[in-house]
Amino acid sequence: MESTPNEFLQFWQMLMPIGAISCVGIAIIIYLIHQIRVSGIKDYKAKYDYLSVSEIKAYKIAIVFIAIAFGLVVNMYGRDMIIFDVVWFSVLIFISIAGATLVGYIGALILQYYYPTQLNKKLKKWRYMPRVNPKTGNVMRLLSEDEEDVHLDEGMRAEEDVFSVDYDVWIDEQTGDTKIEKYKGHLQALQCNNCGFYTMKIVREEIIQEPTPEKEGELLKHYKCQYCSSVRTTQFNIAKEEDYSHFKPDKNSFKKNATVEVVKVEIISSLGFKKSYEFQNVEQAEKFLNEFDIDKTK
Ligand SMILES: [Zn+2]
Repeated sequence: MESTPNEFLQFWQMLMPIGAISCVGIAIIIYLIHQIRVSGIKDYKAKYDYLSVSEIKAYKIAIVFIAIAFGLVVNMYGRDMIIFDVVWFSVLIFISIAGATLVGYIGALILQYYYPTQLNKKLKKWRYMPRVNPKTGNVMRLLSEDEEDVHLDEGMRAEEDVFSVDYDVWIDEQTGDTKIEKYKGHLQALQCNNCGFYTMKIVREEIIQEPTPEKEGELLKHYKCQYCSSVRTTQFNIAKEEDYSHFKPDKNSFKKNATVEVVKVEIISSLGFKKSYEFQNVEQAEKFLNEFDIDKTK
């Protein structure tokens, strides 16, 4: 039997609410599965790792389904239409797609800019939640940066010194048992091909070919492992020159990064003071930090 456009329309209109409800249902299921998985992980460090890798991913997928549901709801606006009109139908499809894209886009923005702060609070909670020694049931104590060094081997200390890895050492003070946990540091360092630690640090950058408006430049980065001292050199292209002359500092004092343009220092006090300052080079920033007095800030 041939189906007429009007029959198709009826079928289409029937499909919309079913599709919308299904999509919202799938989004809720994704959210719940994520929450159940998180609460099923008993080890705090494992929970931390799982949250940092999976939470935003799970929410992103859920938002895609919410966005599709929104598009389908918008499409229901045409449900009083009885006779198939191809123009009206196309306009409706277009508006639905635009609406879904908008919802998806807003969701993506929230996850990218607002949500990471919330996630960080959650991660901090699990990172600093007192550990319990499984052997004795004693509550362990987190060692300070100064205290923890004796419990780390030389390679781990080298990684901490270049800020590529941050180790937390928990100690059971009654038995001396320790638990060492590995976290991402503030800076990225490459893994050394020789010793395997994340201790490859840039020691020097040199521009061997200045970029011009017509041609890309060339930059050499010299790395040295801070643990085993093996060296590596990698070549990079520099984008064609744009006109930065209005901003470039006279003298660039970054030996290691010839392309750094601004040094930003953020100062946070326990009383809620929070302010950031920008400088053109390290000397200026250092001088400022030596002079800094919180009572004299403007
Ligand atoms: Zn090495």
